[in-house]
Parts: sequence; structure tokens; C-alpha cells
Amino acid sequence: MNRYGRISTKRKREIVLLRGRGCAYGRCAFCDYHLDRCPDDMQNFELNRQALSDVTGMFGELEVINSGSVFELDRDTLALIKSVCIEKKISVLHFEAHYLYREKIEKLREDFAPINLKMKLGLETFDFDLRETVLKKGIPVKNPDEICKGFDEANFLFGIKGQSAVSMLEDIRLGLDRLERVCVNIMCENSTEIKPDAEAISQFMEKVYPLYADDPRVDILINNTDFGVGD
Ligand code: SF4
Repeated sequence: MNRYGRISTKRKREIVLLRGRGCAYGRCAFCDYHLDRCPDDMQNFELNRQALSDVTGMFGELEVINSGSVFELDRDTLALIKSVCIEKKISVLHFEAHYLYREKIEKLREDFAPINLKMKLGLETFDFDLRETVLKKGIPVKNPDEICKGFDEANFLFGIKGQSAVSMLEDIRLGLDRLERVCVNIMCENSTEIKPDAEAISQFMEKVYPLYADDPRVDILINNTDFGVGD
């Protein structure tokens, strides 16, 4: 599995896919990548150390993902991420977290100071029924302001049954009104029962993609390896 990549369009940054002890939530109906996990912190640290050794600091910005939330990385890995950022003069660091960790974010920002953290929420959609009944995301609130509080960015999942151009455009609008950036992920076939929906993807490509293809605040991953990490 490739664990290091460079994102050289829009907001340029290096990216590493690290491994933690596993997603504490683990119940999203569309997700099988939480299987990239290991209960042994030392093995994780060794693997993470290797991925982080590729980081050069060339963009001054790094994104760290780990098939779960940053809070599931071991302590040594977190310390190494910080020291790599300081050594390589990386001033902006992106992490991902599930909503259930929102109360721990402020402390994480303090721990990583003076590095500027950008916390990305796995949101998928603001549509409560789709998100909680179908996708089982585990975000038990409806109010967009409340959902976004404490986060800087969010992931969306588009291209599934029940979505339309109107609903996807509304998700992006609500996100950009409250967050610095959003990342759209198009559903890809995986081992779960949630399947890509050809009609929703076609609607996205025809009516949504052209409006945001060049927007620097919107990343769009048509394939889930478009950032250059994963398999
Ligand atoms: S989408 Fe994220 S929070 Fe949900 S099960 Fe997968 S890794 Fe865990």
C-alpha cells in the first residue's frame, strides 16, 4: 500500500496514510478502509516512521490520514509528526476526526502549537436521514452550525442512491459557508453493501463537477486513490 503522496493541485500539500489502532467508531455502512488497523502501537509506529521519512516539507503543508481519526494514532507517532513538521518547516497540518472526538480537538491544537491544525470532519452529507439512516455515520445532530463547530474542513461522500444534483450542491454550499474547505469523495465499489449509484454520479459529473472543478476550496476525488495514497 502506498502511504506517501503529493497533492500538487489546488491546495498543495504532502500526504501520508498512517496506521493506528483502529477506528473507534467503525460503523459507517460505506466504509471498509477502517480495516487498515493494528492493535500493536510499536508496529504502527515503525510503519508510520517509514511513511513520515518521505516527507520533505516542499509545500510547507502536510495532511495526515489514518483510516480513522487522528486520536487513534499512538503517542510516539503523534510526537514524530510534530517533530517532522518543525524540522521540515511545515506550518499547516491537516488531520481527520470523527464527530465523537470534537471535545478533544482544542487540546490537540494546543499540543501541536505553533503548527496550525486544520481538522477535517468525516461528514459525508448534511442530509440527516441519508447520513444516519443509510450511511450510519454517527453524527446525532441536524444543525449545520453545530455539526461544523470546532472543525475547519469536511469530507463529503457523493454518488450514492438518494442523492441528486440539488442535494449535492446544497451540501457543498452549506459546507463552504461554514468551513474553510471541503473534500468531495465519489463513492467507489468496495466490500460494503453501499454501492456507487450511476445516476447520482452522472448528476454530479454533469451539474456539480463543472462548477467546482477549479474551486481552490473544493477537493474532488473521483477515485479514492486520487490523492496518491491507499490501494
Ligand atoms: S468512515 Fe471513518 S469513522 Fe466511519 S467507520 Fe470508516 S474510518 Fe471509521
